[in-house]
Amino acid sequence: MAIESKSTFIINNKAEDMVKWLSSFGLSPDGGINRLLYSSAWSEAQKALEHKMKNDGLAVHFDSVGNLFGRLEGSDAKADTVLTGSHIDTVADGGRYDGVYGIVASLLAVERLKATYGTPKKPIEVVSLCEEEGSRFPMTFWGSRNITGRYTLKDAKNVTDAKGVPLLSAMREAGFDPAHYQSPMRQDIDCFIELHIEQGIVLERSGHSLGLVSHIVGQRRFTINISGESNHAGTTPMPLRKDAMSIASHLIDYVTTQARNDESDLVATVGKITAQPNTPNVIAGEVEFTLDVRHHEEKHLKQFCDRFHDYIQWTASENQVSISSSQWLNASPVQMDASLMDLSKATAQDNNISFQPLISGAGHDAQVFGTHCPTALLFVPSQQGISHSPKEFTKSEDLENGVDLLTDLLYKLAY
Ligand SMILES: [Zn+2]
Repeated sequence: MAIESKSTFIINNKAEDMVKWLSSFGLSPDGGINRLLYSSAWSEAQKALEHKMKNDGLAVHFDSVGNLFGRLEGSDAKADTVLTGSHIDTVADGGRYDGVYGIVASLLAVERLKATYGTPKKPIEVVSLCEEEGSRFPMTFWGSRNITGRYTLKDAKNVTDAKGVPLLSAMREAGFDPAHYQSPMRQDIDCFIELHIEQGIVLERSGHSLGLVSHIVGQRRFTINISGESNHAGTTPMPLRKDAMSIASHLIDYVTTQARNDESDLVATVGKITAQPNTPNVIAGEVEFTLDVRHHEEKHLKQFCDRFHDYIQWTASENQVSISSSQWLNASPVQMDASLMDLSKATAQDNNISFQPLISGAGHDAQVFGTHCPTALLFVPSQQGISHSPKEFTKSEDLENGVDLLTDLLYKLAY
């Protein structure tokens, strides 16, 4: 009993300490983290992790785009790999926990399993994915989409960062010469488990320690353009106006009210708007705004967007203006694996960890793996739901609950 409490004590400090250690790579003076893909801070963090994995006795390798794997070999030579981890890159001035926590928890879990039970039946690999956020280059999931065969070098051919640096040059600079590219695609993945901070406020509000994600939402994004008539603000009578601003505000109110009245978890956001000529004493002739709609069921997403587009047509003819809508993002919802969800639930119960099912409104690498192999996504609480910010924080106790759960889950999957 005494030994057990001592080892618990030592382990209890570990996840927080390791998160702190990794946050030293790319730490800015205001406490934010900058680990953009292929930057020097990114390289240093991946190399530090490589070193740590080697010290832990894992077989380590980088694939051609810079995903880092640490493998604990299994006794069954034919068995597929249980893969666990998350991403090392951050948004500009991001938080300490986003991505990194999943890597840290995976390393700690594998370390514990190896020390307690030795060689597993199935191999377990911890992965530090090279890129998820799309913060440096206008491209997301570069790491997981290479592993799952969705992306190859060709997809990055014309991609440059804000300074005009091509992705392929940045890759070469970081030591991953595109000339030596070999497909990182893996056909031997038994399942993928990603542990992540929630980046939302649901768990904190409910007081639960763990979120079991059933779905990752699908997303549709549009740009809506209203072309009315620019005219004098004083001399044009109200009935004779084709006021793009007034029509835009009506459409924005309509779509967000529809979303608020929707009894499911649908969310709709107008986050950006521009007006022409954008002058106080001139009726706006042209207004453009964006619309972001998310839901976990394709059918519902489609119905909502179709209904709004019907309303747009009606509004255009009522006001005798032209309104166009162009869609520039269409990501389908992804369901997480039901049997892994059941196993996670049973494991949480075994460990007395309070949990609830959740839908993820944010994108994660798990959504890429989710259409490639059985995948589970698990959340620990985020204080005040704050993320992508230096204020991002998760209590040590919550971090440890996640590690406990992941350890037991990996045991059930691989031993
Ligand atoms: Zn993340």
